[in-house]
Amino acid sequence: MKIHPFRIISLWLLTILITIQVTLIVEGDKVDEVIEVVEVEYIVLTQEEYEEEYNIQEVIEMESIGEFNVSAYCPCELCCGPYADGITSSGERATEGITIAADPNVLPEGTKVYIEGIGTRIVQDTGGAIKGNKLDVFFSQHSDALAFGRQNLEVFIYE
Ligand SMILES: [Zn+2]
Repeated sequence: MKIHPFRIISLWLLTILITIQVTLIVEGDKVDEVIEVVEVEYIVLTQEEYEEEYNIQEVIEMESIGEFNVSAYCPCELCCGPYADGITSSGERATEGITIAADPNVLPEGTKVYIEGIGTRIVQDTGGAIKGNKLDVFFSQHSDALAFGRQNLEVFIYE
């Protein structure tokens, strides 16, 4: 997790008070006279407060790349045959909620996509039957993969 520098500042910088004091020497007598006091108060907001105050919303740009035929798989032999070791073609361990398989000519490894109704996934795997506009969503359990079935869903890529 990346900590926003703004947040670090807000940990210690709550209020800054600047006072200007001028010492006057009048006829040999030292007179301390405050001729001007400037108080500058900074109110440091957390990032959330700042965004709320100025109505700033994080805009995530996504571009539709059309409808894909989306199936599901798990690491079992029924789904993966000889490759049933839970390790994706990219070398990453297949993880539910993250891993999908795609055609590398359509969506290269590492591509982050948003699948309608499913959420954000990362292309980490390939599959013999996953060619063209097809995706395979990874599930830990075979029953979950079966329940998912096959669906035509709109897919977006993060810009
Ligand atoms: Zn399976």
